[in-house]
Amino acid sequence: MSDQQLQLGVDDALIALQRAWEHALEVLAGQINKPSFESWIRTAKPVSLDGDLVRIVTNSRFAKHWLESKHLPLIKEILETHLQRSLRVRVDLTEGDHDEPALMADKLPAKPKSRPKPDDEPISLPLNSQYNFDNFVVGPTNRLAHACAMAIAERPGKTYNPLFLYGGAGLGKTHLMHAIGHVVSQTMPDVRVAYVSGEAFTYHYITSLREHRTAEFRRQYRSIDLWLVDDIHFLIGKERTEEEFFHTYNAIHDMGKQIVLTSDRAPKDLELDARLLSRFQAGMLADISPPDLETRMAILQSKAQCENMTLSDDVILYIAKLIRSNIRQLEGALITLHAYASLMKTSVTLSLAEEVLSKHFGESAPPVVDAQKVLQEVSRKFNVELTDLKGKCRTKDIVGPRQVAMYLMRELTDYSLPAIGKAIGGKDHTTVLHSCKRIEQKIASDKGFASQIGELSRRIAGGQG
Ligand code: ADP
Ligand code: MG
Repeated sequence: MSDQQLQLGVDDALIALQRAWEHALEVLAGQINKPSFESWIRTAKPVSLDGDLVRIVTNSRFAKHWLESKHLPLIKEILETHLQRSLRVRVDLTEGDHDEPALMADKLPAKPKSRPKPDDEPISLPLNSQYNFDNFVVGPTNRLAHACAMAIAERPGKTYNPLFLYGGAGLGKTHLMHAIGHVVSQTMPDVRVAYVSGEAFTYHYITSLREHRTAEFRRQYRSIDLWLVDDIHFLIGKERTEEEFFHTYNAIHDMGKQIVLTSDRAPKDLELDARLLSRFQAGMLADISPPDLETRMAILQSKAQCENMTLSDDVILYIAKLIRSNIRQLEGALITLHAYASLMKTSVTLSLAEEVLSKHFGESAPPVVDAQKVLQEVSRKFNVELTDLKGKCRTKDIVGPRQVAMYLMRELTDYSLPAIGKAIGGKDHTTVLHSCKRIEQKIASDKGFASQIGELSRRIAGGQG
């Protein structure tokens, strides 16, 4: 074999490995929480395929440990399936500086002289450079959280302390938290920012216990000025770590330093020490709920623009209606669609979107709600006759429910604006749009109304299955 052929063979193998790795990333991204994924998996790279040995490198001892102890079997399986052969997979550290926290430092081989003292090493996980205020789309369901995050980014420690952000998966909690971190690091370089997930805190603490380095652990945490703690619910059921967290929390808070926390549920629903919960509750609580249709469309538009994708309005509407409760999945849909279109060298049309996405996102397919169902439920809820809902009467107690009906049709059915107008007794599409906006404004400004509409919407959608 000539050198050139040999080189080609090696290149091909590497390309195949790279492809298989990308596939593994996709699978892992769906299984691992985002901060951990971004910090420990995204940063790892496959570097060689030598015989049956795949070498993956990472620059962090923590990532190496984490990959080896938790994810290697799955990674191996995916790579094997993809490359259609049996493999051994090894995780190595890259040469030079590692970014591991000091807690693991004494496991390191001899360090070069220039290495910082363990105390100076960062405990923070890296911030994702993509998570900024600029590209965060604000809508009625995340407006409060966004406003609080902005206020803190401008004046950490001076407004709400702590800020507790909570809500379901994929709704932007981590995004806002990183955005705060970026602004503060850029505008106040002296402020020591530490972004730590509940999982990383647990790991740091346990390692420090095992290695008899708790004093150092405490010293490090107590030097933080802005503490961003993501996914605090991870501490549930880990009593000793929770106790340590409690003391760390008090120490940082008592020094007047800013703390921001996120969780997948409200403090009252967290099974943590009551003393800790009362401290969370004493701060500012802001929940993020799933975005409404308009916001989902705006997010898709903004993401598509970033990816240089042109999407027609009907495709955007289709995706926004298909995926309703998780922005990460919205992004996933867009990326999948983008990949298919470029693979098949075609443009993204509605029929391509339907074909590709219904398959991948089938479970979260919207219930098939028809307009009649919406009208019936609205009529029952507000005690208004169907004929009045569809009629021309403009008294307040009928116009309100009529607007709600239009809003819910837009949210829950696949009717276009003109079709909704027709279903409500022959209104034109600008009336429908105006009605939807009115209801959105009211939802944003009136919590009681928002929950009433949420409940009604769930009843209509849930009643289908
Ligand atoms: P969470 O921490 O609540 O699970 P993330 O912050 O990880 O969710 O968000 C999931 C994905 O959705 C991220 O890629 C994030 O950039 C994106 N995202 C969430 N909310 C918004 C928003 N309002 N505007 C733009 N992108 C968003
Ligand atoms: Mg998160």
